[in-house]
Amino acid sequence: MFENLSDRLSGVFDKLTKQGALSEDDVKTALREVRVALLEADVSLPVARDFVAAVQAKATGQAVTKSITPGQQVVKIVHDELEHVLTGDTDPGALKIDNPPAPILMVGLQGSGKTTTTAKLAKRLKEREGKRVLMASLDTNRPAAMEQLAILGTQIGVDTLPIVKGETPVQIAKRAKTAASLGGYDVYMLDTAGRLHIDAELIAQAAAVRDVANPRETLLVVDGLTGQDAVNVAQEFDDKIGVTGVVLTRMDGDGRGGAALSMRAITGKPIRFVGLGEKMDAIETFEPSRIAGRILGMGDIVALVEKAQATIEAEQAEKMMRRFQKGRFNMNDLKMQLDQMLKMGGMEGMMGMLPGMGKMKGQMDAAGIDDSILRRQIALINSMTKAERANPDLLAASRKKRIAKGAGLEVSELNKLVKQHRQMADMMKKMGKGGMLKNAMKQMM
Ligand code: GDP
Repeated sequence: MFENLSDRLSGVFDKLTKQGALSEDDVKTALREVRVALLEADVSLPVARDFVAAVQAKATGQAVTKSITPGQQVVKIVHDELEHVLTGDTDPGALKIDNPPAPILMVGLQGSGKTTTTAKLAKRLKEREGKRVLMASLDTNRPAAMEQLAILGTQIGVDTLPIVKGETPVQIAKRAKTAASLGGYDVYMLDTAGRLHIDAELIAQAAAVRDVANPRETLLVVDGLTGQDAVNVAQEFDDKIGVTGVVLTRMDGDGRGGAALSMRAITGKPIRFVGLGEKMDAIETFEPSRIAGRILGMGDIVALVEKAQATIEAEQAEKMMRRFQKGRFNMNDLKMQLDQMLKMGGMEGMMGMLPGMGKMKGQMDAAGIDDSILRRQIALINSMTKAERANPDLLAASRKKRIAKGAGLEVSELNKLVKQHRQMADMMKKMGKGGMLKNAMKQMM
């Protein structure tokens, strides 16, 4: 899928991971090469630039984890950044098809693979989700295209709307809707006409069909081999018709693949599926982590770094525990815990991990308890001096006022925090004596 880009990147990182120590210049040189590789893969310039800048910032700011080389760590940062660039906020594979019959509008240029993709998706919905699907071709300009969909339908065992000569696309769309309702279908797919280029008539027709069908999903099919053009086409379709996702076809070829990386950043639209061949099963949902893995082709190193980082975290927790056992639980420890809670998805995320906490969450919402409390407490601790954090007993009334003011909060909130800290420290001490702390921490990890 991304052979060329993948080869280029592994070339860059092979060199880097073999080195024991890395200078800032080594990283800079490597990232310059990454940038060139991305541009050659037809990733758009601003995306390539932002990508490299993000990696650079993270690589500079991060302490190197023991037992892995800095180069390996850079590979992991690049991997995470790739995944980030590829991730949208929709679940790619989950098509909105509740409220049957749900209309899905398929749009795209001629030859992009629209008809093939319509049939592939219909087959998927039928086989994986047990849906009854009806497909209709709206390509009144090309009778051959209508025939093609009918043939594919027979091949995969999915019904197609009978062809009636002389109807307009809008009339066909209306007939498909009626047939889908009467026939008890879950989904009906409208395969609109494509053209070689986007023109006013094509857009007007697709918009008219959209207005009568009111689709739950409008999927744009684009040829992944066209690189940057695919992104431009997507931008234009989205501006004029509005799309809910993109299907990138021909990703089985060893094309440059840059469209996959630029698509979401430039158009804001997620890639939902990738086409991987002419066969009816040759389609996959777009999984950012898997795709990032394929682009980088360095899964072993990524796994290694993840493992090393997990070990370090466990060691830190162990160290913290030993301090707690001795009754040394200061404001820095509390802050670390609050940070950790935020990282785990805040209150909501923590609650989600505990069984039977759903009800409690409702109560917390009602009582106005949410992540903002965590953030306010962190802000308060940040306003303390180093000495005060290590020993909160130093906090005199005048200092409390200053600290609260510094964090933009009331003194009462700071008092609550100090009280909470004392209670926790006392509890840690008690638990530490009985060995309960060790058990409790073990359970948390
Ligand atoms: P349409 O004009 O957009 O409806 O395009 P078609 O669905 O007719 O597809 C055009 C050609 O591309 C056909 O020969 C398809 O078999 C082929 N095709 C579609 N999707 C893919 C894909 O993901 N990979 C490959 N290799 N070929 C594809």
